[in-house]
Amino acid sequence: MSEVIVIGVVALQGAFHEHLKLLNLAAADEDLGEAGWDFRQIRTPEELEACDALIIPGGESTTISLVAARSNLIEPLRHFVKVERKPTWGTCAGLILLAEAANRTKKGGQELIGGLDVRVNRNHFGRQAESFETPLDLPFLKDENSSTKDSESTPNPFNGIFIRAPVVEKLLPVVQGEQCVEALRDDTVIAPSKQKGSSRHVVQPVEVLATLPGRTKSISENIDAAELAHQGDIIVVRQGNVLGTSFHPELTGDARIHVWWLKQVMYAIRSS
Ligand code: GLN
Repeated sequence: MSEVIVIGVVALQGAFHEHLKLLNLAAADEDLGEAGWDFRQIRTPEELEACDALIIPGGESTTISLVAARSNLIEPLRHFVKVERKPTWGTCAGLILLAEAANRTKKGGQELIGGLDVRVNRNHFGRQAESFETPLDLPFLKDENSSTKDSESTPNPFNGIFIRAPVVEKLLPVVQGEQCVEALRDDTVIAPSKQKGSSRHVVQPVEVLATLPGRTKSISENIDAAELAHQGDIIVVRQGNVLGTSFHPELTGDARIHVWWLKQVMYAIRSS
């Protein structure tokens, strides 16, 4: 098959080199080998236009958004994500930028791209000093492994690296204009979502793909495991073409999420 899929990584600030490294590692996976992959750094609207799918890396979301605005990339990014609905994955700061609403940020100080009908809480676990690593159980990777027929088997946990990480603190109703309610909140910025209405696609629901069981509570309170599981922080969400992860897979040497996502991209392109 001579198909070449172009994957862009927004390269304005943050861990874009690390994503490119893991993408190259992932492309060696035997299930991905049949497509040709072209991984590129993206800094201009013209470069973005050539992409079939996109990654927005971790870093500092205010800086990425500021540089994107100066590079005239914000509207093209919104078009890519919300009108063309091409596969897009944001990690950490990237998740913040892909949220329709984000709090703990100076009003007007940061433009969101949007695409995920969620509100994120920036720096949820605290400042840099409170950054941490923890083994994660990621059920979507388990599904991927179920071809081994051993559905009970737990894959190796994924090393979750959380650096001033956001979590999804609210799933917003998937109704156009609903962010107006969010806009009334003092400490919240919202993404303009007008483009959504012009799409020929039906808006999909937000799926919670992974949670971090009760971390905040477990530090201070003695709650049993089942209770904690219910109170987990939402750290991976998907809505149609958009995926967001709170942590930094790009800072590990583990390409499993990149492999999984590239497969999703491949299926999405083939079925479009
Ligand atoms: N807290 C950062 C922000 O607001 C995100 C941190 C990260 O990407 N590691 O952009």
